[in-house]
Amino acid sequence: MKVLKFGGSSLADAERYLMVKDISMACHQENGAAVVLSAPKGVTNALSLLCDEAALGKDYGELLAKLNMVLLGIVNELNETLPSFNQTRLVDYISQTINELNQNLEGFVLLQCAPESVVAKILSIGEYVSVNIFSEILTALGQANSIIDPVNYILAEGDYLDSIADVAASKTRFTDVDSSGAVVLIMPGFVAVNEAGEKVTLGRNGSDYSAAILAACIDAECCEIWTDVDGVYNADPNQVEGAVLLDKLTYQEAMELSYFGAKVLHPKTIGPIAQHHIPCLIRNTLNPSAPGTLISNEASTLWTSVKGISHLDNMAMFNVAGPGMKGMVGMASRVFEVMSNANISISLITQSSSEYSISFCIHNKDAARALNLLEDAFALELTNHLLDPIEVRQDLAIVTLVGDGMRHTKGLAAKFFSSLAQARVNNVAIAQGSSERSISTVIESDKAKKAVKIVHQNFFSNLHTIDVFLVGCGTVGRELIAQIAKQQSALLGRKISVKVYGIANSRKLLLQAGGIDINADWFAELKQSEEQFSLADLHQFVQDNSLVNPVIVDCTSSDIVAKQYPQMMLDGFHVVTPNKKANTDTTEFYQLLRDTAQQTNRQFLYETTVGAGLPVIDNLQKLIYAGDELVRFEGILSGSLSFVFGKLEEGLSLSEATEIAKKNGFTEPDPRDDLSGTDVARKLLIMAREADLTLELSDIKIEPVLPNFFDASGSVDDFMARLPELDAYYADKVQAAKQEGKVLRYVGSISKGNCVVSIEAVNAAHPLYMIKDGENALAIHSHYYQPIPFVIRGYGAGAAVTAAGVFADVLRTMPWKQNF
Ligand code: ADP
Ligand code: ASP
Ligand code: MG
Repeated sequence: MKVLKFGGSSLADAERYLMVKDISMACHQENGAAVVLSAPKGVTNALSLLCDEAALGKDYGELLAKLNMVLLGIVNELNETLPSFNQTRLVDYISQTINELNQNLEGFVLLQCAPESVVAKILSIGEYVSVNIFSEILTALGQANSIIDPVNYILAEGDYLDSIADVAASKTRFTDVDSSGAVVLIMPGFVAVNEAGEKVTLGRNGSDYSAAILAACIDAECCEIWTDVDGVYNADPNQVEGAVLLDKLTYQEAMELSYFGAKVLHPKTIGPIAQHHIPCLIRNTLNPSAPGTLISNEASTLWTSVKGISHLDNMAMFNVAGPGMKGMVGMASRVFEVMSNANISISLITQSSSEYSISFCIHNKDAARALNLLEDAFALELTNHLLDPIEVRQDLAIVTLVGDGMRHTKGLAAKFFSSLAQARVNNVAIAQGSSERSISTVIESDKAKKAVKIVHQNFFSNLHTIDVFLVGCGTVGRELIAQIAKQQSALLGRKISVKVYGIANSRKLLLQAGGIDINADWFAELKQSEEQFSLADLHQFVQDNSLVNPVIVDCTSSDIVAKQYPQMMLDGFHVVTPNKKANTDTTEFYQLLRDTAQQTNRQFLYETTVGAGLPVIDNLQKLIYAGDELVRFEGILSGSLSFVFGKLEEGLSLSEATEIAKKNGFTEPDPRDDLSGTDVARKLLIMAREADLTLELSDIKIEPVLPNFFDASGSVDDFMARLPELDAYYADKVQAAKQEGKVLRYVGSISKGNCVVSIEAVNAAHPLYMIKDGENALAIHSHYYQPIPFVIRGYGAGAAVTAAGVFADVLRTMPWKQNF
């Protein structure tokens, strides 16, 4: 005979009851079936809420009426589907049950409390309704069946609401049960009886345990737990994208996973089935053809090391410490005795090797009671300062990695903890079971989802995520989004998931929890958004959505945004930017950025601030880190001025060349921004600072393209109209240079600690002679690179190359890609 257990998720409505019937009948015909049922979905929660509300004297009428409707709704619907269904009996049963319930609740209102002995009866109502419905379904189909009331069979002890079964004693009571397979046995889960003959429950989610107890008591060949997922996954499939279904687990592994929070199986379930060597299958009512996960003595051959990760929420950690602890014999046992006498279960214990402190975790709900009891028990030690005041930290979670093979694999703990560090999750306490079957860490509750996600990524899916928030959607920002959209699926093939979660411009902010569809018209959506950019909102969004690798990409040229980089990093964001403002602010701010990046373990990447997509910063950093020193530098650092000076050489006038550059979008909207030389000066300063020179922007000597005698005031149009006044001046300069076999170039140079931006005439032998048409070139003269400099050259302007460079920086935020 097989025991089949169906959870509330499998009993949500009439249709599901009929699915459960099909599965049970099929099994019964082959093997004989004993069916354990939970309450219909949500019913136990509703009953629990009713008890709470009544005890508080609140009006529970509406809730009770709703519950009545849900139960009758299932019955009505079944009546419409099944011809000989005896609805009347069930309707009477339900109305009698609801009446009794109402009387009990009225009692709670009067008493202003809810005695647990009565609550146990109330909480199990759903299970009883469920088996009665199911029994009627089978009867309507002519299938003989018999309801086993656990009150007559399953003996348990402990709390009214969280009892433990005495399987051996219960087994002797089952002798009168016909387990030959002649009839379908049906038993409500979750319920048992205590020594005094009172109804008790086996703890929330305890129907799995009931099934295991029944399986042990009737020597079932197998215990099948039918739920709403295909089996046990290596993480909760409803919380972790890409969770993988496990084919097999040993009893111990299943125990550890469920104990530490995998709700798919109640932890108490494993005891009876492991003791009686009954194999247990976890299967999906909604997908009965899936094979499920087998829990037995057999280990998986597919997954040999780490099997899964789970987490327990709502934990409180106690720390009992003090100078009197050292050498005081029996302290630990006294602490734990207090907990065990109060029936408070401890989830995790750590003790410092100095014996100076003991820490342990219990459920939040027991924290206040536990503290009172401990303070009473240790009153003397506390008064005499042998113990420090007992510390309690609430709202914690325990995240646990589980697997039998872990003891044979080195480096797992390191990988576990570095994954947590990557997501910037602090460990409050750590414990490793001596069986080496699990490693647990205690962390803040609101970080648990994020922690599970990143650990799962690193151990199982190898999928790396990058969560992008773009600020500024001018040409580079838009191009970046287009490039990400184009590349997304190819990157996914390389196990990199890049999603854009937020886009902002100076007025609006668009945030979407599942990621913005960047193939759709996101710009229109942005325009309609009511929100404005705020770092605090982005931070909250990252928390709410448990994003593990958030990156802010600043494609503005705003110094207000740049000023926020330190706070961005403190909030957990990496920062990627082509914006030169931050790196050319004061030396103090420049240093603050680096210190913050280091302290927060975040990346601050700005490769595109010099030479657009050309790998300038990276190469310069590598040289300097490797002990080289910058002796001299000269370069053409502006794409637009490279274009303009190239055109001068070809015979165009300054005004003509500027006009074309402006038309083609090479210059800033106001060409004076380029011609003033400040932009080149900023790039030069960034280079100089990389080479360890301590300089401010005001230290850079600039010879602007527009000489001082020229009036550059007014609107852009005024300025452009006046620009021809300079044509002759430049024509003369170009001519003079030409006579010496030289051409004019707008050059940034660093030499002996001085930075100069100036118009230079260079000859054919000079590395910058050939550089025009928007090309950039940078000649780095260093100790290693001499007499021939290290030259980096290539197209150094335009949205496409800049965005590609920004994209590359975005990808470098992945820990293992930082130096690719
Ligand atoms: P039932 O009502 O059938 O008892 P539960 O809701 O108690 O169902 O348990 C099933 C749920 O357990 C799944 O929907 C899933 O979200 C959750 N779960 C948590 N951890 C795991 C895991 N490792 N594998 C499978 N499911 C898990
Ligand atoms: N119905 C009970 C609960 O919701 C028992 C169970 O479903 O396992 O806790
Ligand atoms: Mg369950």
